[in-house]
Amino acid sequence: MSSRRLSGSLVGLALMVGPALMASFTAHAAQTVAEVGCTGLVPAMMGGPMPTDRNLIMLRWLSTANYELVYHGQVYLLDAYFDRGPRNRPTGVVPSQVQRAAAIFIGHAHFDHMSDAVPIAQRMRIPVYGAQITIDTARSLGLPSGLGHVVKDGDTVRFPGMTVDTALARHSSLNPEVLRQLGKLFDLDARPETSDDLAAEKKIRAEGSFAPEVITQGTIAYAFTFDTGFKLVWLDSAGPVTAGDRALADKLGPADIAIIAYQGHPVAETQIPYTLDLVKVFRPRIFLPAHHDEIFGAFVDLGVEPLFEAIQEALPGTQTIAPLHRRAMCFDIRKPAP
Ligand SMILES: [Zn+2]
Repeated sequence: MSSRRLSGSLVGLALMVGPALMASFTAHAAQTVAEVGCTGLVPAMMGGPMPTDRNLIMLRWLSTANYELVYHGQVYLLDAYFDRGPRNRPTGVVPSQVQRAAAIFIGHAHFDHMSDAVPIAQRMRIPVYGAQITIDTARSLGLPSGLGHVVKDGDTVRFPGMTVDTALARHSSLNPEVLRQLGKLFDLDARPETSDDLAAEKKIRAEGSFAPEVITQGTIAYAFTFDTGFKLVWLDSAGPVTAGDRALADKLGPADIAIIAYQGHPVAETQIPYTLDLVKVFRPRIFLPAHHDEIFGAFVDLGVEPLFEAIQEALPGTQTIAPLHRRAMCFDIRKPAP
């Protein structure tokens, strides 16, 4: 449902529920903005529409922790894992046909965060940002050395109209036995795999690193502060809160939007505290989850409602949004959090 249609249906609702309840509905509905450039399912990086209003940012979830960020006519890729193999839902991104991208930010070097980064960056001659191990991995996969930019805890990088601050975060804890048992679910409850499936997935899994230091030294939290003061935090894995996360949050103050991963544990009771602790640190006005969707053979789709209910209890002022793959979301950045 578009925001415009939502507004229309809210008018009807107001007649039934009265002004007090209506105020809370409109406060939430006002967070996303309808604009002709903020419609459609074609990613901006693939040539889809972009907002013309320079006071808007557009975000589009493209599965796992991939988001595209559109700001002032530039498209920034947050993670790059688009060609996910035949058994995953499509993202609408064909890496060899990406036509707009100004830079790629990679949260960490696992394949499900960077498998398409190198060919896109190489063809378009755009910079790739990540931890040392991420950039080393990208170079080993063919990234020209001039395009790799290492970011560390406490770094600040300036872009046209925005500043990017980085912090050393920590990857989620993964219990190998839980992952093994979870993988069995796919054997029990899905069509038999073909040799083509396996070959495609093996190739994608090789486009990243499984080194243990990715967990402790290779996961970066990014904060984008636009020139209006509006702040967007993006964290593509949900491990324990680090000193770096806290220092970044202290520097920023409350975020306007936080995109934080909700994955690692398939049981909500176990996963919620990790993501919730990070949400509490960054105190966003708007929360968007990431990584909670299926990766065939590894992760099942996690319902976000238990997490959203926990956020509702802990941070009643935070709006939670369940994004859909490929749907554009625009936000007015003129009124940042105080
Ligand atoms: Zn990972």
